[in-house]
Amino acid sequence: MPLRILPLLSVLAFAGAWPIATAPAAEPAPAPCIFCEIAAGRTNQPAREVYRDDLVVAFMDRAPRNPGHVLVVPIRHAENALDTPPATTARLAVTAQKIARAIRRTDLRAEGFNLQSNSGRAAGQTVFHFHVHVIPRFAGETPAGAEKVAAAPADLEAAAAKIRAALVSP
Ligand code: AMP
Ligand code: ZN
Repeated sequence: MPLRILPLLSVLAFAGAWPIATAPAAEPAPAPCIFCEIAAGRTNQPAREVYRDDLVVAFMDRAPRNPGHVLVVPIRHAENALDTPPATTARLAVTAQKIARAIRRTDLRAEGFNLQSNSGRAAGQTVFHFHVHVIPRFAGETPAGAEKVAAAPADLEAAAAKIRAALVSP
């Protein structure tokens, strides 16, 4: 093509008179996963974190079912219990147990625990990054699935501090 025609084609294309291949509109970026954000330390909630190692992190549920309600999550994103690598699943279970034992040593006075994981919308999962709930329970209260209790940020941070301390003191 003679070089002098090129500028003309550019003008026609710009005016919409000449078909040119355009890049498809970019897909909107997926919403960031809130538990990935927490696991990566990109949210400003260090005071609510109770435990972290190379595979898992544990932090206070922001809408606890009872005081001391902790979530244990894999650092690497996995949607639910079915697609989490076995070594991570094992670490989540052991960590949930350690945290329940630590909570029992605090003055939160838990008498029992629900170690619970909801996998899939039909099972009640609402955050699609695998997590294990560690929920302190008390004799005589409404059974599992009880409504959330009000918790101010300061209450969450106070409970987190107690659990962190109990985790390092046998
Ligand atoms: P599930 O319904 O089993 O998926 O549980 C999700 C849990 O995540 C609920 O108990 C929520 O209160 C809790 N949650 C959601 N967003 C946050 C957040 N940003 N920080 C702490 N807990 C959260
Ligand atoms: Zn995630």
